[in-house]
Amino acid sequence: MDKILNYFDKALFTILLIPLILFYFHILPLAASEVIFITTSIIGTIPVLINALRSIKERQISVDLLASVALIASLIAKEWTSAAFIGLMLTSARIFGTYTKNKARSSIKGLLKLRPEKAKVKRNQTIIEIPIEQLIIGDLVIAEAGERLPVDGTIIQGEAALDESSLTGESMPVNKKVGDQVYSSTLNESGSLTIRAEKVGKDTTLEKIVQLVEGSQKSKAKIRTLGESFASRYIVITVSAAILIYLITNDSNLVLSLLLVACADDIAVAIPMTFWAAIGYAARRGVIIKGGEFLEGLARVDKIIFDKTGTLTRGQLKVEKIHLFKEFKLADLLSYAAAAECISDHPIAKSIMKYVETEKISFTHPDIFKETPGKGLAVVYDTKKIFSGNLAFIKESKINLEAAELEELEKTEAQGYTVIAIACDDHLVGFLALADELRPESLPVMQQLKQAGVKKLIMLTGDNQKVAERVANKLSLNEYHANLMPQDKLKYIKGVIQKNSTTAMVGDGVNDAAALALADIGISMGAIGSDAAIEAADIALMRDDLREIPEMVRLSHYTLKIARQDFWIWGLVNVIGFTLVFGKIIGPAGAAAYNFVTDFLPLFNSARLFSLHLKLQKKNLNY
Ligand code: ADP
Ligand code: MG
Repeated sequence: MDKILNYFDKALFTILLIPLILFYFHILPLAASEVIFITTSIIGTIPVLINALRSIKERQISVDLLASVALIASLIAKEWTSAAFIGLMLTSARIFGTYTKNKARSSIKGLLKLRPEKAKVKRNQTIIEIPIEQLIIGDLVIAEAGERLPVDGTIIQGEAALDESSLTGESMPVNKKVGDQVYSSTLNESGSLTIRAEKVGKDTTLEKIVQLVEGSQKSKAKIRTLGESFASRYIVITVSAAILIYLITNDSNLVLSLLLVACADDIAVAIPMTFWAAIGYAARRGVIIKGGEFLEGLARVDKIIFDKTGTLTRGQLKVEKIHLFKEFKLADLLSYAAAAECISDHPIAKSIMKYVETEKISFTHPDIFKETPGKGLAVVYDTKKIFSGNLAFIKESKINLEAAELEELEKTEAQGYTVIAIACDDHLVGFLALADELRPESLPVMQQLKQAGVKKLIMLTGDNQKVAERVANKLSLNEYHANLMPQDKLKYIKGVIQKNSTTAMVGDGVNDAAALALADIGISMGAIGSDAAIEAADIALMRDDLREIPEMVRLSHYTLKIARQDFWIWGLVNVIGFTLVFGKIIGPAGAAAYNFVTDFLPLFNSARLFSLHLKLQKKNLNY
């Protein structure tokens, strides 16, 4: 449908342009021109009216309405040349709009070019080359050095350094070995890999990114927040002013000329284009922004709430101390801990499992299990009931807790450790004291965010008071809250959200999806490889790097600055135009010509954003 409209617009452009040129150079005989202009102006009015009616149906006020008023007014006033001119002007605005939309889109679509056309797969012991459309899940795909991967999957043989910049924006190669996740479109720089395909075609991370960013551009209503709220006010004011001026002067020519100058078709194209260009740029950096309103929101953000584990900290906890109670042995404690933690995706669970692996402790998978977010795990295996979690969880689970044991536990917490207690049936077996490191970029990022105007930096955590206090002090956060259950975090966010303030929530999107959804802007980190993180967020950072947050805040400021400049340019152009009209220097045809020529100014200004892509090559992500 859009394609047909585009062809129609191009044809219309020619139909309107040729007679107008002939007319201005007095080549067209007057009698003939009348007939031609009546026909063309009516044809030119049709798409504008369709658009205007469509926007009324969607309960949106768009500039097409104003253009319709001007067009109909000129038709009634028998200003045929003006009508043809407005038609021409609006048609070219639409053509230019489509062109810029495609340009913004092609910067995203360009990503798809990085996907190879063919894949080498091992089927029935032979290696064959097939088009990627024929790949199926479970295929064993071979990728040699110098080739881009055709699928998302797991390495089952070989190791290599991969350039993942197509997805993350970061071109420093990442070393990958057997068992690691790899993604379509990333470049194998060194080794020979065999990959088990897990996602093919439309399901790959690459295609998902393209779909999401494209979606953000299609949601017109969402992306035009700035433009739309402006348009609704603007139209009411302009139309009332036009009526008033007509009542005072009774000069229909004057009013028509004013309306023609005031047609804000340029700004209606320039503003969305500004946002598209910025969103396309962000995508190239490995940041998916799901709509213009989120980018706009970032420019106003005054509170940012961070999850602690895995967000402000690395989320790779180290087991620093182990304490055993009663007659229990280290192997008991670790095998119980592993039996419970092996079913969890929590950073704590992963860290404990890693430790158990290096200690070469054998364990059994549980038969029954239950994970309580923010607390811990309860599992049953081999008729034993195992608990692994924090102190509150142990108390709640009615485990016998001797005074000396409790004292030891609390003492270790007071030293700033995350303490995970392990219980078997109703006895405490012992505990693990874990420590997490701050991300190296956390402190500079907090400082940059403050500089960028964020008033409150807040941390929420389910971890204990002491650990929370340490992190908060090191990062000079404005506020922190510890010992929170997931529902407490939600309650807190609900309390913080206010009308005249914008709150962002940053998390990993795995166990805080609800919090991300609740905040005005949900930002998920390290979204590559995690569909949950991509889905839950409004803004998804593919790379696990906090530095993209201040970067995106800066991008939002820059984008809004350009959008505001567009308004200024347009305002100035209008003031000059009105002066020309009131001074009787230009009439309706002159006004239409004036509007047509000046239409391009804000568009050129916004086109500057496309040059941001050039900066990509120069970007330096290291401190
Ligand atoms: P954060 O707010 O720091 O991201 P969570 O809300 O995910 O932390 O978890 C809070 C606390 O709940 C952890 O510090 C830990 O004590 C306990 N906990 C959560 N998941 C687990 C688990 N899989 N095993 C043991 N303890 C857990
Ligand atoms: Mg968490």
